[in-house]
Amino acid sequence: MNRNKYGFICVVAVTMLMLASGCGMRTRVITPDSEEYESIPLFAQCLIEAYPNEIVGYADNHLVWNDGTTLLYDDGLDKSVQEMLEEGDNEDMSYWLYTNVIEPFNDAGRIRNDLLFKKMYGETEYNMEKNLTTIVWCPTLVNKTVRITTVNGVDRQLQKVSDELDAHPEWRPYLEGISTINWRVVAGTNRMSAHAFGIAIDIGVSESNYWRLDYPEADENDTIAYRNTFPLELVEVFERHGFIWGGRWYHYDTMHFEYRPEILLYRQKMARE
Ligand SMILES: [Zn+2]
Repeated sequence: MNRNKYGFICVVAVTMLMLASGCGMRTRVITPDSEEYESIPLFAQCLIEAYPNEIVGYADNHLVWNDGTTLLYDDGLDKSVQEMLEEGDNEDMSYWLYTNVIEPFNDAGRIRNDLLFKKMYGETEYNMEKNLTTIVWCPTLVNKTVRITTVNGVDRQLQKVSDELDAHPEWRPYLEGISTINWRVVAGTNRMSAHAFGIAIDIGVSESNYWRLDYPEADENDTIAYRNTFPLELVEVFERHGFIWGGRWYHYDTMHFEYRPEILLYRQKMARE
């Protein structure tokens, strides 16, 4: 057999294999239209519905992407809270329910599966930055540009937040002192910050409270007292558009908002259950 012919046969064989595995996967993928949809984990449903342009369905304990790639949903490991914070899987992200009441050690949304967010927003700083756009934050009250990702329409959601907040001059001190992008890990940890994915914004830095600054000697297992000055009506504007607030965490970070529609959807669905 000459080399050309051998190469051709290889290409055909690989193509057939890919088609076969692709078809096999397609038949088993459960989408929101499937009859079995209600049988998949509730939080997996939240991820599919929160990110419909990226995640199309669920198959064999995996989330299935629009390009056919997959990501493990639940690794089945029994982890401590610290382990979930360090290396949580998709299922671990539903460990806490996002609530309006500060409950001891409840940090709903602080467990982030880095693999999921890197897959959506960029594996590297370079790839993340390629997805960024610029919006003018509160043009009447602040008029500063901020960079934010276009993936999942986060920029459009932040624009809606800005439009609403810009009509509230009484909140001006909370709307100034903004920052969004920062390719870094969370202070004192090895895990990526939501700011590294272009989905987070800090506002009103001078008015804010952060547990690490208020309790420099404490670690994540210590009991701390809650502090906040942010108006809840302002917070609810963000929440209506898919952003969760760091001020609802036991380990509060009141300047911090991040786009996490799956966390808000999970609260809605759990309230209906
Ligand atoms: Zn922040």
